Amino acid sequence: MEYSKFENKYILRLDKGEEIISSLKDFCINNSIRLGNISGLGSTNSIKIGLFDTTKKEYFSKEFTGDFEILNLTGNISTMDGEIYLHVHVTISDSELHSYGGHLNSAIVSGTAEIIIETIEGSIERTYNPNIGLNLFDFKK
Ligand code: FE
Repeated sequence: MEYSKFENKYILRLDKGEEIISSLKDFCINNSIRLGNISGLGSTNSIKIGLFDTTKKEYFSKEFTGDFEILNLTGNISTMDGEIYLHVHVTISDSELHSYGGHLNSAIVSGTAEIIIETIEGSIERTYNPNIGLNLFDFKK
C-alpha cells in the first residue's frame, strides 16, 4: 500500500495480494483515524460478502473467486469498545458484467484498489443492540 494525505483526506493505493479490510483497519490504527468515511473502487479475485438476516439476526456470507471489478466500495470508520470498527459494503461485477453486492467481510486485491478515506474529528462508539442483532452507532456514549 502507498498513500498521500491532502488536508483531511488520505488517498490510498492497495496492491495485488493485499486484503482490503485488514489493510484499512491497520491503516486507521497506524494513523489514529477513529471516525471517517471510506470510498473506493478496484478489482478483486477473492471476496467474501454477506447479508444480515434481520429475522435470524445472523450474517450469511458467500465467497467468490475469479475476476471481479469492485464497482463501488463504501463504508465508515467508528469505534467499538475503543477499538477501530469498519463497516463496509461493496458492489462487484463479473465477466458477464453482472453485479453482486453485500456487506464486505474480506477481499484480496487482484489489480489495484483506489480508496479515499475522509477523516472526521471526533469519535462515535458502537454498542450491540440485542433487539436488532447489530452493533449500532451509540450517540449516548
Ligand atoms: Fe453491513
